[in-house]
Amino acid sequence: MVDRYKVCRMTCRCSCGVGCVVRIFHSALVLGVPISLLFIDSGLKEALVEFKDPVYGIGYVLILTLSLVLYYLACFVEPGYVQKQKKSGNNNIAYEDSSSEDEEAQMMNKDKESVYRYCDFCEMEQPMRSKHCEDCKKCVRRYDHHCPWLETCVGERNHKYFWLFLAVTCILILWTFLITWSSFKYQLTWKEWFKSNIVLLIDMFVLVFGGMSVIGLFCFHSYLMIKGITTWEMVSRERITYLKYFDYDFNPFDEGCIKNIYYFLTSDKVKRWEVTYEKKANIGKRKKNIV
Ligand SMILES: [Zn+2]
Ligand SMILES: [Zn+2]
Repeated sequence: MVDRYKVCRMTCRCSCGVGCVVRIFHSALVLGVPISLLFIDSGLKEALVEFKDPVYGIGYVLILTLSLVLYYLACFVEPGYVQKQKKSGNNNIAYEDSSSEDEEAQMMNKDKESVYRYCDFCEMEQPMRSKHCEDCKKCVRRYDHHCPWLETCVGERNHKYFWLFLAVTCILILWTFLITWSSFKYQLTWKEWFKSNIVLLIDMFVLVFGGMSVIGLFCFHSYLMIKGITTWEMVSRERITYLKYFDYDFNPFDEGCIKNIYYFLTSDKVKRWEVTYEKKANIGKRKKNIV
């Protein structure tokens, strides 16, 4: 018992340490490129240091700040860890819809063995769309993925901050790319050109590789948001008990793109996915009947 406690404490400390390193590295990367542009002849230096275009400069600083704020919100907003439910009484969980407990209970009895999963680590029945994360050591509601860049899970509660972070960071990277591109100086020889543009070349390297990842992820997560599906459900569909019986193009959690986007960006409450599933599941063509 004592040993298990020690191991747990060591794991937590290690995890916090990795989180700090990753977050400091991210902040250094996001701040490093613009700061370097302030020390060479660039549009950003003209706007912010020489005050030739303060509106342009303030606009850039606002986008930069917003990108960092959204990154830290995605890191620190609790992703939706599942708490063990009490057998009776109020669990203090704010649910998104007003469906009755009876409706959910009815659903839970039906097809229970086929669609519900039991988490051996947390020793409880998982709510639909939840998955146990081995890094966080908890079950996460509407699990998307464990993000090493945030060093936390992306789930029901912080997925919107993750998507907003990607959206704002795309704008920041494209804006910084334009400033960097227009700052290159012409020189008569390649040697002189490399010498006078070395900082811009390093910035370009960071922007191109960072930009490809961020823009790719932004497009992918926008698709997931519109379709009302998660990364985990998309890549592991054949292994997920409540999805594998349906045709590949049928998603029982798809409520139409407007409703999907609205829920994704606005809801702060727990949704009873069991109820949505029950309403839509009969529409889908099942590959084989659930008995
Ligand atoms: Zn679990
Ligand atoms: Zn996790």
